Amino acid sequence: MTTPRLEVCLDRIHHNARTLVERLGARGITVAGVTKATLGAPEVARALVAAGVTSIGESRVENLEALRHAGLTSPMVLIRSPMASQADRVVAAADVSLNSEVAVLEQLSAAAVAQGRTHGIVLMVELGDLREGVLPADLLDVARRTGELPNLSLRGIGTNLACQSGVAPDDDNMAELSALAASIEAALDITLDLVSGGNSANLGWAMRTATVGRVNHLRLGESILLGTDPLDRRPIDGLHTDAITLVAEVIESKAKPTRPWGIIQQTAFGLQDAPTDRGTTSRAILAIGRQDVDPDGLVAPPGLEILGASSDHLVLDAGDAPLPVGTEVRFQLDYSALVRAATSPFVARCYLDGGGAGAA
Ligand SMILES: *Cc1c(COP(=O)(O)O)cnc(C)c1O
Repeated sequence: MTTPRLEVCLDRIHHNARTLVERLGARGITVAGVTKATLGAPEVARALVAAGVTSIGESRVENLEALRHAGLTSPMVLIRSPMASQADRVVAAADVSLNSEVAVLEQLSAAAVAQGRTHGIVLMVELGDLREGVLPADLLDVARRTGELPNLSLRGIGTNLACQSGVAPDDDNMAELSALAASIEAALDITLDLVSGGNSANLGWAMRTATVGRVNHLRLGESILLGTDPLDRRPIDGLHTDAITLVAEVIESKAKPTRPWGIIQQTAFGLQDAPTDRGTTSRAILAIGRQDVDPDGLVAPPGLEILGASSDHLVLDAGDAPLPVGTEVRFQLDYSALVRAATSPFVARCYLDGGGAGAA
């Protein structure tokens, strides 16, 4: 089989999504399944839809177009603020987009009129993480303006935390979102059907808070794909953390000293700490590198240690057990490593299981 490759176990992804859909459903929250870390893989999107997500969330319009092309008919949400220059494509591919700029809303409106479609809008609110969002004081004006623009339908408001600054969702910022929803409804005499509280970092809050207030929607990627909570990167109870693994192949296997020799200056990627001298060990080079993956986000199997990586090589200490040339080594990935591997043209994909029906 081709290496390097991502092995994607669709039944495990289905299990993770189903488990979160059920847990959140009990709290009145629906789920958009976010596929961006898989480069918008239709196989993954189908498993998410089968597991009960109410829409597919994607950050790139190109990925949404590919999903449509692959025959996905579920509602699709563009979760990165659209580029004004892509308004036509956004309206054609997405049912809803998350927005924070009036200038973009105007372009989306014009595109929606031209295509004879209605485009749904969720206005993003800045609640402290300092990435996207309208400041709370400006939200009502932007909501009013959205309502005036033809062929746009103001579906709700949302926020995104824990991405730029690591601000955790809590009762305070989520109550503020709920209060903003209520005040827009009162001022404009409308009903907002979506109050989108955030991403996987909201799960801990959503499961433990006394009341979710008006929050009725989350956009989940990492928790479904990797089974981890982005706030502390710990496994989430009852979820698989190995639904996606990375397999790479040994291209050199030799016993070498642990310490380099010669005059030591910078490496291709900056300064490197001098390794402690452990005599001679078995080293293995794998045919994968920084072009393909974030090596800091890889977890090697027990007994193997990652010593470093350059563009095309990953160097492992194999301890006392040499890894023969041709051996396949399997790694767990964190979010950063997954995103990079999923977007490298050099990393193949392999889907296991039928995609949805199976159990844990
Ligand atoms: C990436 C992203 C998500 C999903 O985040 P996860 O941590 O993977 O659940 C949700 N919303 C927005 C706006 C995003 O950019």
